[in-house]
Amino acid sequence: MAKDGAAGFLTTRLEAVVDWGRKNSLWPLPYGTSCCGIEMMATLCSDYDLARFGAEAVRFSPRQADMIIVAGIINAKMAPVLKTIYDQVSDPKWVVSMGACASSGGIFNVYSVTQGIDTIIPVDVYVPGCPPSPEGLINAVMRLQDMIAKGATRAQMRERGSIEQQSQLA
Ligand code: SF4
Repeated sequence: MAKDGAAGFLTTRLEAVVDWGRKNSLWPLPYGTSCCGIEMMATLCSDYDLARFGAEAVRFSPRQADMIIVAGIINAKMAPVLKTIYDQVSDPKWVVSMGACASSGGIFNVYSVTQGIDTIIPVDVYVPGCPPSPEGLINAVMRLQDMIAKGATRAQMRERGSIEQQSQLA
């Protein structure tokens, strides 16, 4: 409604509205395995307060979450567990790889440690550092929100790909 009382109108795309809602209501599933997990906890606490970015509803059940934050070392034994949890997260889902260990194995260049979680699951945003700072994780969440708004995450690209594939088959 305009200031003079005249009826106004707004046009947009349904997809843009849905993505706006998605980016402002992230439900994180914390997958902290070692020291990076402590930095992730700090990010969620009052000093840094990730809630300011619409991502405060932390869930420990994958079916109630849409953003996995993998923070720490992922051993080879743990890799299938991470894959199962990723598969159980609701679609569309986003993945943040926090710290050198999750992103590349870090200093643990050994057979028993996964050399990057992107060898197991698709990753949207990486947070550099050992340990990465809470500011780094907040920056990653903001980058992820930009990507969701642009439809540039892996889940959204997969979604679009399958819709295009279905329309080609129809
Ligand atoms: S990146 Fe550094 S702080 Fe994070 S889990 Fe690895 S060793 Fe710990």
